[in-house]
Amino acid sequence: MPAINLATLLLRSARVFPERPALALGTGVTASYRELALRVARLAGGLLEGGLAPGDRVALVMANCPQYVEALFACWQAGLVAVPINAKLHALELDYIIADCGARLCLVTADRENDVAALAGRSGALARVINVAGADYARLLAAPPTLVHEIPDDALAWLFYTSGTTGRPKGVMLSHHNLMAMTLNYFSDVDEIAPSDSILHAAPMSHGSGLYILPHVARAALNAVPESGGFDPDEIFTLLRAQKGLRGLTMFAAPTMVKRLVDARRDADSDNIKTIVYGGGPMYVEDAKCAMQRFGYKFAQIYGQGESPMTITAVSKYLHRDVSHPRYAARLGSVGIPFTGIRLRIGDGHDTPLPPGEVGEVLVRGDTVMLGYWNNKAASNEALRSGWLHTGDLGVRDEEGFLTLKDRSKDVIISGGSNIYPREVEEVLLRHPGVLESSVIGEPDAEWGENVLAFVVAKPGMQVAADELDALCLANIARFKRPKYYRFVAALPKNNTGKVLKTELRKLLQP
Ligand code: AMP
Repeated sequence: MPAINLATLLLRSARVFPERPALALGTGVTASYRELALRVARLAGGLLEGGLAPGDRVALVMANCPQYVEALFACWQAGLVAVPINAKLHALELDYIIADCGARLCLVTADRENDVAALAGRSGALARVINVAGADYARLLAAPPTLVHEIPDDALAWLFYTSGTTGRPKGVMLSHHNLMAMTLNYFSDVDEIAPSDSILHAAPMSHGSGLYILPHVARAALNAVPESGGFDPDEIFTLLRAQKGLRGLTMFAAPTMVKRLVDARRDADSDNIKTIVYGGGPMYVEDAKCAMQRFGYKFAQIYGQGESPMTITAVSKYLHRDVSHPRYAARLGSVGIPFTGIRLRIGDGHDTPLPPGEVGEVLVRGDTVMLGYWNNKAASNEALRSGWLHTGDLGVRDEEGFLTLKDRSKDVIISGGSNIYPREVEEVLLRHPGVLESSVIGEPDAEWGENVLAFVVAKPGMQVAADELDALCLANIARFKRPKYYRFVAALPKNNTGKVLKTELRKLLQP
């Protein structure tokens, strides 16, 4: 299928809804759709005038800000490849990614300007660093506007660096075609969006939340960024309540963020929230129930990964509401059914399809699956062998096609020859009223291979005893699955997108 430039999504919205607000900082609108389209066309012109050519990479080391949206669309309009990089990474990690992708230009926000400027001339091809609040950026915006670049099929739009919870991050190559398919899938399986709706980018725009820009621009909705640039429940509730508050609001939130929203300001008005899409890590059933009690049936779940962004399976809002269904609880504990047009298979170690009820690796095929990893043929061939994306996630399907994730294959604990899925144990521990969070890992053991060990964070002011947790496990899961040891800690190590870093927990075990 011939590829269509993603920048056309913006043009279309700007033609039909020129006066609609496109960007906001807090509730302060910074651009209408007409203004955004013009800024993007000029910025695209400025980038090309500055010596970049279609196919070149532009790194974005930017905290959440309204300029994020225009930077992405300007790259696409000019045929350039955007490389959004988590702005909270260490300078050495930035160095690695910028060198790996070969970007010659990096757009930055002030918080990381010095760190990235220190890499110019040193890190790969990086020659120029431009602060999006500075005079050089204003000069780019003064360039003559350029038209949308006609792109070849398979043209790259976004190099999506994996979070690197193990090993070096890899650049997932996402094409315009991949992201167009992802955008359409949002409308088919997650939610409708009206021009009067808005999205609040409280999660990193370099990652989860950034992808949601696309369906919202496609429907001429408002992309708002909290003034803090991050996730602060108090700020969010204030934005919702303001007189000209954000309406019809969608937010993408990692499960840990949903939990914090539930716990904060229980009396705060949340009528303006339309949809909270959660995903990126396991949502425990107990937490999902509490969230719906607090906010109503406004939730949708997505299971995806950088390699098939936002799009593998979903539990729609409708299914969240369908409480009288006899299999409601099982459905809520699942990650849902495949998106329209996505094929899903559970494969054994040789990729042979397994029937419902058997656990194997989740394999995916469809228009959203990446082209491969940047500059890494071996890893691409491995991940895409036999024409299926190998997600590294273990899962099981039921007869109706609902997928339940077990764990990352590398996180499965094998004790005495039996497979133990940490998530199952974590679900049980969370039922204890004093437990805020838990993470279960395997500890090497000469006799058993591995022992089950649970890290537990108690709720503030609450005491939790190991024998209470043990009794809870005995009452709910097979004896061999229950943790042999408990470690009570003040917090769990997490990366910027809210994923618990089991690698860090394992390090705590080393003598
Ligand atoms: P990333 O590429 O950084 O977005 O990470 C993707 C990984 O996060 C997936 O391979 C899963 O292991 C995990 N993940 C994503 N969505 C979900 C979900 N809804 N439930 C459980 N785990 C998830």
